[in-house]
Amino acid sequence: MAKATDTPMMVQYHQIKDLYPDAFLFYRLGDFYELFEEDAIKGAKILELTLTSRNKNSENPVPMAGIPYHAASNYIDILVDAGYKVAIVEQMEDPATAKGMVKRDVVQLITPGTKLAGQKGDGKTNNFLAAVVHDNSGLAPVKKGAAPRPYALAYIDLSTGELKATFLATAAEVMDELGALEVKEVVLAKEEDLKAAELAKLVGEKGLVVSFQGPAQPSATLTYLTKDLKDVLGQAVTGLLLQYLFDTQKRSLDHIMPVQSYERQAYLVFNQVSRVNLDLVENARTKQKAGSLFALLDETKTAMGGRLLKQWLIKPLKNLKDIQARQDVLAAFTDDFFTRGTVQDQLKYVYDLERLAAKAALGTLNAKDMVQLKKSLQAVPALQAALMGTSADPILQALGEDLDPVSDLADLIEKALVEDPPVSVRDGELIKTGYDDLVDSYKQALTDNQDWLANYQEEERQATGIPTLKVKYNKNFGYFIEVTKANLGKLEEGRYTRKQTLINAERFTTVALKEHEDLIFAAQTKRYDREYELFLAIRRQVKEQMHRLQHLAHDLAKIDVLAALADVAEERHFVRPRFHQDGSRAVRIVQGRHPVVESLLGAGEYVANDVTFPQDQFIQLVTGPNMAGKSTYMRQIAIIVILAQMGAFVPAESAELPIFDQIFTRIGANDDLVAGRSTFMVEMAEANLALQNATAQSLILFDELGRGTATYDGMALAQAIIEYLAKHLHATTVFATHYHELTALSEAYPAIENVHVGAKLSEDGRLHFLHQVQPGAADRSYGIQVAALAGLPSPLLKNAEGILAELEKSGAGQVEVAETIAEESNQAANHSEKRAFTGMAQDLPLFEIAEAKPEGQSLTADQK
Ligand code: ADP
Repeated sequence: MAKATDTPMMVQYHQIKDLYPDAFLFYRLGDFYELFEEDAIKGAKILELTLTSRNKNSENPVPMAGIPYHAASNYIDILVDAGYKVAIVEQMEDPATAKGMVKRDVVQLITPGTKLAGQKGDGKTNNFLAAVVHDNSGLAPVKKGAAPRPYALAYIDLSTGELKATFLATAAEVMDELGALEVKEVVLAKEEDLKAAELAKLVGEKGLVVSFQGPAQPSATLTYLTKDLKDVLGQAVTGLLLQYLFDTQKRSLDHIMPVQSYERQAYLVFNQVSRVNLDLVENARTKQKAGSLFALLDETKTAMGGRLLKQWLIKPLKNLKDIQARQDVLAAFTDDFFTRGTVQDQLKYVYDLERLAAKAALGTLNAKDMVQLKKSLQAVPALQAALMGTSADPILQALGEDLDPVSDLADLIEKALVEDPPVSVRDGELIKTGYDDLVDSYKQALTDNQDWLANYQEEERQATGIPTLKVKYNKNFGYFIEVTKANLGKLEEGRYTRKQTLINAERFTTVALKEHEDLIFAAQTKRYDREYELFLAIRRQVKEQMHRLQHLAHDLAKIDVLAALADVAEERHFVRPRFHQDGSRAVRIVQGRHPVVESLLGAGEYVANDVTFPQDQFIQLVTGPNMAGKSTYMRQIAIIVILAQMGAFVPAESAELPIFDQIFTRIGANDDLVAGRSTFMVEMAEANLALQNATAQSLILFDELGRGTATYDGMALAQAIIEYLAKHLHATTVFATHYHELTALSEAYPAIENVHVGAKLSEDGRLHFLHQVQPGAADRSYGIQVAALAGLPSPLLKNAEGILAELEKSGAGQVEVAETIAEESNQAANHSEKRAFTGMAQDLPLFEIAEAKPEGQSLTADQK
């Protein structure tokens, strides 16, 4: 806030700051960006800057912290990565010629979603900004026979120019897309459009922009970019997104590509929970890339390839032709190690072309970037030659033929720019000799003058008789003659003008030296200006070829990903999966593996498992002790499906699959304590999502569903869910459970098959896991033995065994269970009664025994 005591500069500062209250204001003052007041105090802490103050001696010193302008980008990155916004305030006129206060203005607002990726990291993550519009006035496009989709979502990666839009039916779907894309910032026109609280959980408070208005009238740019979006809602959301970009970036954004609209349903759909559960892009436990499927697959050589691979992974395909097109290239690469190796060797020289093209469009490409661009382009002909080699597969040949190496640009940069130019583009040393006559003539003039200076020094030494006399140069004083104090007497009176005095020497200039100094400076200035002018011309030429560069970037990214997947396939013995052409939904995976678990085990330790779902047997009930490998088996199926539909090969000896439309998972404990939902609530909500949305083409993985509540409730619910799946949904389902009673359901429903993961008790009573999935139900849970492996005290274990034996003998709990289930379903009651004679209580794991007591009371003190 402005104060009456403000100096004119602080008045100006406050005028600008008031417009950007939630951003750090980087206020340009000469060679520094200054932070003031609150920004200075907070910024000094986060950025580890020295906090000083302006007008130290006045009554109201102003806290201040400075950042050298040339180092600003690092500091900006730190702030924006921490979720803050940074407003860059530049001097809008030359301070030397300005009258009064130098005019200043915000030239760019950098926000989490509009940050152009810094040099940090491997560049394999997109930086997405999104906008969401919710329409309840009926503008939303309605497809015949389809549910209305009142949400429109648009998103962009400003650093690549990739712009996409889609329509969605529910807020949950929107949240899911935003989560999958790891969106950094979301723009809303109205707070009510999407629950701000939920959004804030996803992108952080600071990544949320509410009450932002789109353009009143679509601009020509917007019309062009949305030309493929016919409807009003799509234009509204894209308008909102682009308006935010224009307002924050304040410059032309010519690299943005026309919006591509897509259908969520065109891809294999799974939600954030599943992505986390399956460790797709990061390891759920460590939140790191290591230990994820992405890390295992990521043999890409370029940042663009890495980003594309991640996009493929979160959006596997559903269209068989598209999947097979990827598989074909992958197969060709797998078969041709030589071509693949040559291609990958060249890819190592390719920088982030996509982002370089964007930088050219934004006018931020410097000479170093251009040399990177050139090196990238120069790698393409050899890569292309490898693909088109006579021995290569026709599919690879076609891939090569389609490449446009943009050689004209590579040649131009090669001819014009030196190999290792400085970062600054205004201080010369950019242009190669021989490229431009003018630059050459200035350079010649400069070398001539160097010669002249050398001669002049010699002449002066002769004339004065001082052999140590030197002609030197420094930045502040220019050219001068330096004579030590001892020799001063030898100088001719009146010929030398004093410039500077040092302890041991004096520095002078002469008429002749001054004349040449002027000549040198003039030539140098002209040279810098001319080099800069040429540089800008080249940058314009690069910008003109931007679309070709973007195209090439995309082609190379695809080649990179497919070659990487071929590496993985070869290294880890993956095979090409086959898809049914006849609509069958049978699953036949022979010796399938979970690739991430396998990679963590020693050679030969992983036990491969077949997965077989005949056409009409679409539910598997998996039993077996804890730690036996049930959830690994389930996850393996989902991962194989995802890999297959992204066009990759799969970890198995062979795989025949249907095309799935959605995957639902309920695995592990996802307590949503922030939202105040208990484990059981989360469990039921996730189950509900699957039950409401799954189709016969979906894959459902339920791991120990129902364990979050009392045994009877849990078992009753689990059974009802299985029956619902068997009778109504017909989705391919794997259901792991400790309720062994449920295995009897297979007798009533042909759709249900029992399998178990085996374990063996050795003679000393220790449990050994076989990790082998076998037909039939497990005979028991081995809860006490697993507890023994966990190291529980042996008196306690002994006591547990005693209690278990008692329970088995008395049959406590059995009748209760049978009756409870009988209420749920007559059919199941028959099985329950049958089970009552088979001693089911022994199958209940240790922790459930308390619940299994008929009265539902807790254990007495001595039992504990
Ligand atoms: P459950 O779900 O039955 O409790 P998990 O699937 O979590 O068991 O597996 C427990 C551990 O057993 C895993 O972390 C892994 O180390 C090992 N494991 C699981 N499946 C296999 C397998 N097929 N081959 C080898 N080890 C396995």
